[in-house]
Amino acid sequence: MTTNHGGHEDFRTTVRSTLDTIVTPNAPKWEAQGHISASGWRELGDAGLLALPHTGADFLRSAVFLDELGNTGYAGIRASIGVHAYMASSYLRLFGNAGQKARWLPPGERGDRITALAITEPEAGTDLRHLTTIADADGTGGYRLRGRKSFVANGSQAGYFIVLARTKATGTDRGLPGASLLLVDADAPGIARRPQPMLGWRAADITEIEFDDVPVAAGQLIGKPERALLYLVRALDFERLVAGLLAVGGVRYCLRLLKEFARSHHVGDTRLGSYQAVRHRIADLDAQLELVHGYAYQAATRQSLGQLDTKSASVLKLTATELAVTAAQVCVQYHGARGYLDEATAARLYRDAMAGTIAAGANELLRDHIFESA
Ligand SMILES: Cc1cc2nc3c(=O)[nH]c(=O)nc-3n(C[C@H](O)[C@H](O)[C@H](O)COP(=O)(O)OP(=O)(O)OC[C@H]3O[C@@H](n4cnc5c(N)ncnc54)[C@H](O)[C@@H]3O)c2cc1C
Repeated sequence: MTTNHGGHEDFRTTVRSTLDTIVTPNAPKWEAQGHISASGWRELGDAGLLALPHTGADFLRSAVFLDELGNTGYAGIRASIGVHAYMASSYLRLFGNAGQKARWLPPGERGDRITALAITEPEAGTDLRHLTTIADADGTGGYRLRGRKSFVANGSQAGYFIVLARTKATGTDRGLPGASLLLVDADAPGIARRPQPMLGWRAADITEIEFDDVPVAAGQLIGKPERALLYLVRALDFERLVAGLLAVGGVRYCLRLLKEFARSHHVGDTRLGSYQAVRHRIADLDAQLELVHGYAYQAATRQSLGQLDTKSASVLKLTATELAVTAAQVCVQYHGARGYLDEATAARLYRDAMAGTIAAGANELLRDHIFESA
């Protein structure tokens, strides 16, 4: 895969060596402690990697970065950075006003203040109509926030949350009526955070957040009130593009590991990779990766032209994350028992791969979107 996507291959070399310096040596520690260290965030910020463009021709630099972040082989780390620098902050970049952007984005871009996205609730995931988090008007233009959010990546380390909440009671549960997006300072009183350790994505800092009568100042509403559905539709396409690009890099890492192992490991007197069945299985996965990799950059190009659509984003996220599951399963299988050891890289890839099919929208929902599209 040597295509010079948008002339950004020199940038790829730079990104790869920067990630090799900042992420790779620290990744085991971050996995063990459950989050990226503050110094790691700052180094990423200093390297300019938390402020890459979300739009325009230079979005292809982001695509290269996300692909290479996936290629580090740590899905929890890639998810944490993806949420902070893209998925959560996209709401501010897309729908925030100038004052909000000036106040909240620069600390995030420096890696000083981490961003999290708090949409999902214990009883509202795929179907957000069951949203119960409420933000009542406080009479001064602000709100009092009550509710519980689940599976929030970067939850314990976040400096602020982008929160989906009902700001107006309505008589219907169709769509997302009465729902708005709020910027919530993580230092505000009334916030409790509980870790939700997961099977994989161990560095992603998955946390449950409780909001108990939390004051949200006037001016921390994102965009217009009760317009959350409109904003989510656009931002979720972008989120799935980001998730797809990260997953593509992850599959690349997995197949490299698999090929290296098949070339070096012997079963008795026979090199594993000399079995035609093994070679062909890996070749099939490689062929699928080539296709999805090309599709990922096509979708990234659409984003750079302002033409990303729900179908492209859904196809990419669905295909890349399911290929990741298949590749990780084959990777464990061909490693034998040594790949199933808790500390094995193959085992980590296997644990991590399943999360990709659920986070950023369960793949079944994406299949529905694809079916419903033209
Ligand atoms: C590792 C990880 C990180 C996450 N990070 C965040 C985060 O930072 N912020 C945040 O707000 N949320 C986050 N989430 C939550 C994620 O968005 C939800 O898990 C997802 O939207 C699915 O919701 P749910 O888990 O409640 O599953 P449910 O909606 O209860 O669905 C359960 C299962 O039902 C099946 N299903 C769903 N819809 C359909 C359908 N239409 N047809 C057929 N089958 C279907 C799917 O297999 C799905 O997994 C994260 C999740 C994971 C796993």
